[in-house]
Amino acid sequence: MPKYIFVTGGVVSSVGKGITVASIGTILKSHQISVSVQKLDPYLNVDPGTMSPYQHGEVFVTQDGAETDLDLGNYERFIDIDLTAESNVTSGQIYSSVIDKERRGDFLGGTIQVVPHVTSEIKARFKKLADKSEAEVLIIEVGGTVGDIEGQPFLEAIRQMRNDVGRDNVLYIHVTFLPYLTSTQELKTKPTQHSVNELRRIGIQPDIIVCRSDYHISESIRDKISLFCDVERKAVIPLPTVDTIYEVPLVLEEEGLGQLIIDRLIRKTSKTDLSQWQELVRRIKEPLEPINIALVGKYVELQDAYFSVREALCHAALHHNRCINISWVSSEDLEGNGCDLLLHSAQGIIVPGGFGVRGIEGMVKAASYARTNKIPYFGLCLGMQVMVIEFACHILRSNEPNSTEFCDTTPYPVIDLLPEQKAIESKGGTMRLGDYPCQLIEGSLAASVYKEYLVNERHRHRYEFNNEFRILLEKEGMTYSGLSPDGRLVEICELSGHPWMVGCQFHPEFKSRPGRPHPLFLGFIKVAMETLREGAQPTLPLSS
Ligand code: GLN
Repeated sequence: MPKYIFVTGGVVSSVGKGITVASIGTILKSHQISVSVQKLDPYLNVDPGTMSPYQHGEVFVTQDGAETDLDLGNYERFIDIDLTAESNVTSGQIYSSVIDKERRGDFLGGTIQVVPHVTSEIKARFKKLADKSEAEVLIIEVGGTVGDIEGQPFLEAIRQMRNDVGRDNVLYIHVTFLPYLTSTQELKTKPTQHSVNELRRIGIQPDIIVCRSDYHISESIRDKISLFCDVERKAVIPLPTVDTIYEVPLVLEEEGLGQLIIDRLIRKTSKTDLSQWQELVRRIKEPLEPINIALVGKYVELQDAYFSVREALCHAALHHNRCINISWVSSEDLEGNGCDLLLHSAQGIIVPGGFGVRGIEGMVKAASYARTNKIPYFGLCLGMQVMVIEFACHILRSNEPNSTEFCDTTPYPVIDLLPEQKAIESKGGTMRLGDYPCQLIEGSLAASVYKEYLVNERHRHRYEFNNEFRILLEKEGMTYSGLSPDGRLVEICELSGHPWMVGCQFHPEFKSRPGRPHPLFLGFIKVAMETLREGAQPTLPLSS
């Protein structure tokens, strides 16, 4: 029988509960314990795919094509596992499944209620992940904070689990925040006491409290939380803000969290080895020469919208002994003559994924600037489509080539829907989603960095390269360096005569791991490192 760790949040959201969960996974894995992870999201959307990135940040896509919370990306990167659709459960999924069952007549004669019907459906999802993953420990994160109206059924379900699977098989961890009062120069524990009281009110006594804070947490604060929240002193784990998220497993392990979980839940002796992780953090914290990358997108005010892209850039830069300096450029600012102003120091330009027409003109300008100035350009999904639109505009000497997503009357629909997509009207979960194979063409830049010829990459898009324009663009220098194995879909394209103008229809950022950067990101960063821009100074020998 698997063991369960339930992680709740208190006081405020966005304090790093997801990173804490991912880090617990890293720690347990380092103790040779197999883990899987699940995120419970209390909103009524079936998945975050229909939400704006401003609401939710990045939508992370799993290998089997589920559109999920960005925390799943952190779980994958920290634990180095590939998760599936079972790892993200929303209230929308739970309610629609309960209502479907009611309509089918599964509960004939009964009144359908939150307890037990909704809570049973939630618990069935725990079991489903346990059966599928066969992991020894399931770490389950409840989204939001204790006290949120919509989170109540999830909290009730995790409370019931203690009796369902036995006290010895569950552990409750509460992640809270300690605010700092400047006037009295102290950290306050009262909000933590209140959120623990709220948990107790619904029948959950936390076993461990992880205290997030921007400041040092003194021993007396730990004593106070231990006393008022009725948690053993060593189970009050301080987690002050650190320089890099990858440091969190090390801080938690140093505070004894791993051993505490082993003693309380696993009850077996084990040795831990976090040396690779220590090495990673040591290298991230080392002063390294920065490399300037401009990320041109439309959601740049909220960097979480590009979480995996930022991480993938960091992983690749670190591999080349560099750190990354991203300038976040709103594509709308490039619509006039903003390129010279905003891109002059960029050693590489990346255009990530996105939806809708806003900001497209600026992205096309960025692609044109990169092509004409021979600045490395890397297009991810929408970024590839933009690169194709720009190249078509250039060779046809027209500004009419477009994607039918942005202009359905264009005479040159270089990016278009496939016939099978045209028939689909509903918007949720109907894109090309998840892993698809891609065959690489010998002699291409892409093949040279992948060093293999058949790869699987994750997709999330509706529109595709329109094959009617393949020959025209090919004649002018575009190479289709990655195709679906049946040759029907263009997956990667690149421009000859340019150091790195590469676009891919998929999202390589989802597959990058700290210790295993994605080959396309490695290739892009390598070429960008060799690109000297305004103000850059090549290292000169100081003495002869
Ligand atoms: N909007 C484009 C499409 O649907 C690109 C999507 C993306 O970048 N993820 O095809």
